[in-house]
Amino acid sequence: MQTNFSKEQLINKDNKSSEKILRKCVHCGFCNATCPTYQLLGDELDGPRGRIYLIKDMLENNKPANEKIVKHIDRCLSCYSCMTTCPSGVNYMHLIDHGRKHIEKTYKRPLGDRLIRNFLSKIIPNSNYFKIIGVLTLVAKPFKFLFPKTIKEMITIMPTSFPKKTLPTLKVYKVSNRKKPVARVALLTGCVQKVLSPQINEATIRLLNRHGIEVVVSKDVECCGSLNYHLGKSDIASQTFKKNILIWYDEYLKNGLDAIISNTSGCGTTIKDYGFIFRDNNDLKKKAKKISQLTKDISEYLNENVKLNFNKKKINDKIYKIAYHSACSMQHGQKVHTVPMNLIKKTGNKVMDIPDGHICCGSAGTYNLLQNKISKQLLEKKISNIEKTNPEFISTGNIGCITQIATATKIPILHTVEIIDWYTGGPKPEVLRKL
Ligand code: SF4
Ligand code: SF4
Repeated sequence: MQTNFSKEQLINKDNKSSEKILRKCVHCGFCNATCPTYQLLGDELDGPRGRIYLIKDMLENNKPANEKIVKHIDRCLSCYSCMTTCPSGVNYMHLIDHGRKHIEKTYKRPLGDRLIRNFLSKIIPNSNYFKIIGVLTLVAKPFKFLFPKTIKEMITIMPTSFPKKTLPTLKVYKVSNRKKPVARVALLTGCVQKVLSPQINEATIRLLNRHGIEVVVSKDVECCGSLNYHLGKSDIASQTFKKNILIWYDEYLKNGLDAIISNTSGCGTTIKDYGFIFRDNNDLKKKAKKISQLTKDISEYLNENVKLNFNKKKINDKIYKIAYHSACSMQHGQKVHTVPMNLIKKTGNKVMDIPDGHICCGSAGTYNLLQNKISKQLLEKKISNIEKTNPEFISTGNIGCITQIATATKIPILHTVEIIDWYTGGPKPEVLRKL
């Protein structure tokens, strides 16, 4: 695609990167075929190619965003299915991130929209606030008919009770019965995940410890920053990114880290991008690049570094049919697709491919709250496709998808790491107790 940025415009690092991306696009439109919003809405501007043109127009012409542009960009799930399909290697992720940043700087959203986005930006990344809102939601539930539509939907979706933790909160989870750990990793326990499903982090820690790996959980690393980044609030996100980079890099230098583990693929995708985000920051670029290099999804880390001790008796006990939902951030964002499935297969169970598995479940961070109608349509399709495989339970690697899918089906759903923990000596996951 031909671009028309001036020399002055290209001094800006974001324009420079976006120009390179835009030049790769040959407007073939293949990406539209696998875009969930294009499939649902059938409007060119609700597909990746149309959005690319909208962003190009804003950036090249120094044009402030307007209502129409914002509507179509906001409808993008950031699922990156288009990136998997694109034959020219267009990095849509970096382009839409830039587009959202530009919108936030140049467009004043209506008051209600601003209030909701500011509320989400403050509440979700803070686990204490999130718990308080859970309690308030419980009180507000009987009166939800009094609220505007968006708030009503939020009250419906927001969980109001949270499972209890069973592991103590420690900075370092040491390996028992061993003199020296075989490796040392940091774990991102996540902002929402540790409140909604503490069992995921607990399964991860138990599993790693049992295989001789020491786990560090830095209490000041809470959120990866992606939520604010995708809301276009790049300044707030940047503060979180910097804090995380400095804490992990310090740990890496002082005590050594073999990896940084993410068990939430949405977060993993963003941390793996820290290197790009700080590419022009002389103080941080080296450190950010190292943090990104060290970051692995738990499934990748297990596959590449750990000889898993599967329990042979359990493997022969009963064969379950498991539908594997490949989260968009996992399969399109991190290009990790078959690895988790192969890990589950090692437990002796049958792993089912979900039809149209490349299409998003509609969760997408805060998307299910901000674009509830589209999100619900995607969720319905996802559930119908899952049910076609007639599974006994569902597995995935992202808390957002777990929460979203669980709202619409009675089929139990759990994180892949909980299955691997269970088959290597951990307890049977609570959601499967009745199976
Ligand atoms: S598939 Fe790639 S090259 Fe083709 S229109 Fe989409 S982004 Fe551009
Ligand atoms: S990220 Fe997903 S929703 Fe957005 S344009 Fe690409 S395929 Fe469509």
